[in-house]
Amino acid sequence: AAPHGGWQGPVRQPGRREADQDKDYVGFATLPNQVHRKSVKKGFDFTLMVAGESGLGKSTLVNSLFLTDLYKDRKLLNAEERITQTVEITKHTVDIEEKGVKLKLTIVDTPGFGDAVNNTECWKSVADYIDQQFEQYFRDESGLNRKNIQDNRVHCCLYFISPFGHGLRPLDVEFMKALHEKVNIVPILAKADTLTPTEVKKKKFKIREEIQQYGIKIYQFPDCDSDEDEDFKQQDQELKDSIPFAVIGSNTVVEAKGKRVRGRLYPWGIVEVENSAHCDFVKLRNMLVRTHMQDLKDVTRETHYENYRAHCIQSMTRMVVKERNRKPRSRG
Ligand code: GDP
Repeated sequence: AAPHGGWQGPVRQPGRREADQDKDYVGFATLPNQVHRKSVKKGFDFTLMVAGESGLGKSTLVNSLFLTDLYKDRKLLNAEERITQTVEITKHTVDIEEKGVKLKLTIVDTPGFGDAVNNTECWKSVADYIDQQFEQYFRDESGLNRKNIQDNRVHCCLYFISPFGHGLRPLDVEFMKALHEKVNIVPILAKADTLTPTEVKKKKFKIREEIQQYGIKIYQFPDCDSDEDEDFKQQDQELKDSIPFAVIGSNTVVEAKGKRVRGRLYPWGIVEVENSAHCDFVKLRNMLVRTHMQDLKDVTRETHYENYRAHCIQSMTRMVVKERNRKPRSRG
């Protein structure tokens, strides 16, 4: 007998349906998994540069960010030694692993930056360093063995701005303008615990304004897709509005409200590094590690390195043409 209640659609026959589906299923839906497995096996690498005047808390912040002591054997110079100090570049590499995912993290530091009496062009050695890494990569890429290229290109530069000035200093402007076409610059407002929330707000506004006024091109967070959910869009906007990230670093663990946290203990209270009401540390860490690490690498490869490469090829071509025009024609 016909069932009551109208037509219910085709009766489900599990075996047959799955077989049909299998017929249409080639299997490329597993591609993401294949890529995933392969890249996890290979491991990831990331190179982060920190720059800014010494004493602004760069090493403390890096240690807080990656929970490692990257500066065990650092030698601090005295005032006399710093007078004629030239900028040197140091590199620390650590292998960190989390849930089976390996990350080779390289921190490039620029001790001596802004320390000497005369700091004109002290950004130059930093710019040269970045160019050298591009040059090395370009050579390796055009060479015979392209399989095991060691990639030392700098993916991001955290530039520390002093909380004690009125916005940017001339050296800050010079540095960022000299490097903005070479590396992703993320400005940082250092030692935010020395400022009140209102002061932080004002300083951030002033710095953002100056960045625009001087035509400095800092790292631009990519726009989020229009089909993302509202929560995500709001977080993304908050991230964009936080520039420059006001951070606090600490290498000590203190007790706050019965919990042990990374923080700084003052006679009047505790500032917690990972408390988003106290500073933007968590926002910065999430941006660097959880949400934008791949984008920073992509922009380095697709924009900064590509610019360098195009430049190189252009000047090489120009040289060849010049050489050809100079030589007298042997035949004809
Ligand atoms: P670097 O020379 O830029 O690497 O600076 P350091 O990390 O060596 O820090 C210089 C001094 O500033 C040390 O005494 C730190 O304890 C202190 N310091 C680091 N981060 C902060 C911070 O966020 N707030 C405050 N008030 N002091 C900090």
